[in-house]
Amino acid sequence: MSIYLIFFLVLSYLVSIKCLYYRHRRTLVKSLKRVMNVLPGREADGADITALIVTAHPDDECMFFAPTIIRLVELNASVHLLCLSEGNYYNQGAQRKQELLKSCAVLGIPASRVTVVDHKKLPDDPKAEWSVSLVSSVIVRHIRAHSVNMVLTFDGRGVSGHANHTAVHKAVSHLASTGQVPNDCCLLSLVTVGLLRKYIAFLELPLSWLLSSCLCCIIGSQGYRQAKAAMLCHRTQLLWFRYLYITFSRYMFVNTFQMIPQGPKNLKIY
Ligand SMILES: [Zn+2]
Repeated sequence: MSIYLIFFLVLSYLVSIKCLYYRHRRTLVKSLKRVMNVLPGREADGADITALIVTAHPDDECMFFAPTIIRLVELNASVHLLCLSEGNYYNQGAQRKQELLKSCAVLGIPASRVTVVDHKKLPDDPKAEWSVSLVSSVIVRHIRAHSVNMVLTFDGRGVSGHANHTAVHKAVSHLASTGQVPNDCCLLSLVTVGLLRKYIAFLELPLSWLLSSCLCCIIGSQGYRQAKAAMLCHRTQLLWFRYLYITFSRYMFVNTFQMIPQGPKNLKIY
């Protein structure tokens, strides 16, 4: 009897995840309109979105942001990537840059929309302290040059806690609080979850869906295959634990975001 009960519970859980996925597909555009502050009655679709994903290293885009990139590309949004280092910690920068371009192509971002910064003051190094003013100036230039209206980046915990990830968040928060972001541009930070939630793969989906967030991006089995193919482009990083990450990380299936609050515009800093 108890075996039947367990089987029923597991089956119900899996069915509820499938239902969530289909419900999410219907409601994603509405959530995007809400975060972009588009009036409910106004027609808007993915083509109105120019999104900028800001990362610190090659492979961050697929390790952490793949569900978002895949869903935005599906909606015909213009997705740009700004990666603030070449990932040169082991002197493999040139190779990692090529891997990044391949990964982006798999995710649907053409090379013309990928920018990799190679600056001696922005090394790939968890012990390096990146300058907030330098990083924020690079980001705001990019926002203006490409008329970006949605920026997506790490939150203050940087998913893995890497100092370069948190430095990117600090820079975007600095832009937000000093009113340097264009009026029509919204800023979103990727929610870092605890260890248990992080490594239960798609089983975590109901929690992500139910807990409050501004934006939730979920991919199904086809999207997961795409995210996995992008991960495999980063050949220099394919150590055994990377395969565990591909199998068990919830970031391969779902992303949730919170809004980064913005201060008054055009503040003059003396
Ligand atoms: Zn990273």
